[in-house]
Amino acid sequence: MTFDGFARYELESFFLRRDEQGKFYCRTCLAMQLARRGARKITAIAWAAAVEEAFINPGLLRVRPGRPCEICKQPGLSIGADPHDDEVGDALDLLIRSP
Ligand SMILES: [Zn+2]
Repeated sequence: MTFDGFARYELESFFLRRDEQGKFYCRTCLAMQLARRGARKITAIAWAAAVEEAFINPGLLRVRPGRPCEICKQPGLSIGADPHDDEVGDALDLLIRSP
């Protein structure tokens, strides 16, 4: 896995945490959360790049226009994982099953 791929993987893992499921964040707040609570070896710059990339190509995550950010409550573009989404459900199943 490349370094960028690692930041991306960590970003998705963040949203699969039990207490983060269903929460949506704007770019700024997400980068801040990841810097505080994500893997230490990933720099703020790498997190910001991974966040930008996730908004363009969300993959497992969902970008919701107008959904207020969990932290700043700004109704801009926000990103998160919807636990009722089939793809997210499958990813959670995998996490639970993996040792
Ligand atoms: Zn925010």
